[in-house]
Amino acid sequence: MICIVCPMGCSLDVKEDGSNLIVTGNKCPRGGVYAQEELRAPKRVVTATCLVTGNSSVTRRIPVKTAVPCPKEKIPALLEDIYKTKAVLPVNAGDTVLANWQGLGIDVIATRTLH
Ligand code: SF4
Repeated sequence: MICIVCPMGCSLDVKEDGSNLIVTGNKCPRGGVYAQEELRAPKRVVTATCLVTGNSSVTRRIPVKTAVPCPKEKIPALLEDIYKTKAVLPVNAGDTVLANWQGLGIDVIATRTLH
């Protein structure tokens, strides 16, 4: 597998040794952590858009993303909740539109300012 943590893109070789994963080919410790996490509990930063309500009758959407990666198996449920969320104008980039989703410490934040 290729490490995507930094632009070096190291080629990682992962072997199972009982319940352990032995990672080689990484030029720094982050590659080992990435491989372990990717194979045992993969996560992704989620990007989407959510509705905004405010002083206009026009329906608008604002781009959002998770502030931290979300477990891959929970992404469909998170997207469902993001699509149900209505942020209230004005929204500034970095504002939290969905806080501590499902108690997992995942905040969804706006990535654009909209007034
Ligand atoms: S192993 Fe380290 S140096 Fe290599 S791509 Fe991953 S983060 Fe970058």
